[in-house]
Amino acid sequence: MPNPAKYIFVTGGVTSSLGKGIISASLAKLLQGRGYTVTIQKLDPYINVDPGTLNPYEHGECFVTDDGAETDLDLGHYERFLNVPTSQANNVTTGRIYQSVIEKERRGDFLGKTVQVIPHITDEIKNRIKLLGKKGEFDFVITEIGGTVGDIESLPYIESIRQLKWELGKNALVVHLTLLPYLSTTGELKTKPTQHSVKMMLEYGVQPDILVCRSEHPVGSDLRNKIALFCNVAPNAVIESVDAKSIYEVPLLMKDEKLDVVVLEKLGLDIKGESDLSKWSEFVRKLQNPKGKINIGLVGKYIELKDSYKSISESFIHAGVANECSINITWIHSEDIDDDNVKEKFAGLSGIVVAPGFGNRGIEGKIIAIQYARENNIPFLGICLGMQCAVIEFARNVLGLKNAHSTEMNPLTPHPVIDLLETQKKVVNMGGTMRLGAYPCNLEDNSKALEIYKSKHIQERHRHRYEFNNEYLSDFERHGMMASGINPNGGLVEIIELKNHPWFVGVQFHPEYKSTVDNPHPLFVGFVKAAVKEYAVKSNA
Ligand code: GLN
Repeated sequence: MPNPAKYIFVTGGVTSSLGKGIISASLAKLLQGRGYTVTIQKLDPYINVDPGTLNPYEHGECFVTDDGAETDLDLGHYERFLNVPTSQANNVTTGRIYQSVIEKERRGDFLGKTVQVIPHITDEIKNRIKLLGKKGEFDFVITEIGGTVGDIESLPYIESIRQLKWELGKNALVVHLTLLPYLSTTGELKTKPTQHSVKMMLEYGVQPDILVCRSEHPVGSDLRNKIALFCNVAPNAVIESVDAKSIYEVPLLMKDEKLDVVVLEKLGLDIKGESDLSKWSEFVRKLQNPKGKINIGLVGKYIELKDSYKSISESFIHAGVANECSINITWIHSEDIDDDNVKEKFAGLSGIVVAPGFGNRGIEGKIIAIQYARENNIPFLGICLGMQCAVIEFARNVLGLKNAHSTEMNPLTPHPVIDLLETQKKVVNMGGTMRLGAYPCNLEDNSKALEIYKSKHIQERHRHRYEFNNEYLSDFERHGMMASGINPNGGLVEIIELKNHPWFVGVQFHPEYKSTVDNPHPLFVGFVKAAVKEYAVKSNA
């Protein structure tokens, strides 16, 4: 019998956006650095069944797992930090909980009982939490509760934690993340909001074991003692989390604060040696000491909210470190690009990325950007919709197919170079019905793709409905656009590239979901390498 998994719950108080995801991932990293296996789960208190149907302006990027789950962007942080894939079980929303309880009720599983929040909803929440620990795969399950204590929506989750703490005893603990606001008039950090938020947890019957206090300034021992006294925790369980320049510094800061040691102590585990973060420290050292700097233009339509492209910008951080180069992303709104300003807008950029997206808004700007990259030999990476736009641009301007388009934007186009498969035409519901998750892809000999991946068979994650229309493939290939990655089941085009261009690659999938600190994604690494070269050429000109 393997040892039972240990459960760590991470809750938040005072305000939202304190970085529970990063604290959870940092703690997980510290435990992983001690040789433990860890998984992290996010419970989201909203009613959507998953974030797949949410507008990126509402909730940032939707992160996709190998098994095709559309999930919260925090799962991206978990994977980037731990280098361990997550799955559907790692993200559960209130909508999903209610959906399955109601399905059970309709099936008659509750044998005539009145179905209630307690125990039926809380039982479903508890089962979803315990499910991850049951298989014996993980020593630790860290469960992050979205939202802030006191929200009406999060009540059933806090109640479930109360019950689980009781059931699991020594095998569970609660880390509560709060804010110590700084009053500049008196020059002090204030503890009252933290005290109140712990009181609120106590009202619900949950005593936090560890407090992680976000703060703009270091938290002195007087303050720690005061918080400890008022909140019933040991002074060494009051952890300071001072604002960091980069999220990648946080595991190191948490190590200095001995967050992992306090956790192990409270769970009654051996505290031998220390967490080995040597590789991680090396990454952070390189991140902080780049040897050069380049500008990459990211063309998209949700750029007002940078979280919409979280995994892409993080992938650039990884690829930058791999090239020992700092990457400045210049965010360019696709609606602002036209034929007259494109040259001026893209001056000084060493590479251009056209981002994923949905719908017609800003599409022509993306196509102009791609034409500019293609004709001026600027390294180009098109991701999902970005790849589809590259196909449309090539069809219009090289193949001479005027008005070529995707049927997503123009269902009546005379040249549907991007189109729906028959199976997608029958889809009625929008949620969870795209081509989602990991699919295999074979790379062609003598292609840039093969040179980049150094492997003939790859797997990448998808999230789209439309596909390259193979009726046009031979025409594209004759004119120099190669289909260099093909799905072996059915021949769908997954990668396109240009023969007569230093670096022009479009991918139907989302490589950004698979880039991690330990494994920077080869496409981003290769793209940055090409951009660094482009920068050198331009600087010498
Ligand atoms: N809108 C396109 C499609 O559904 C591209 C999607 C994307 O960029 N993720 O196929």
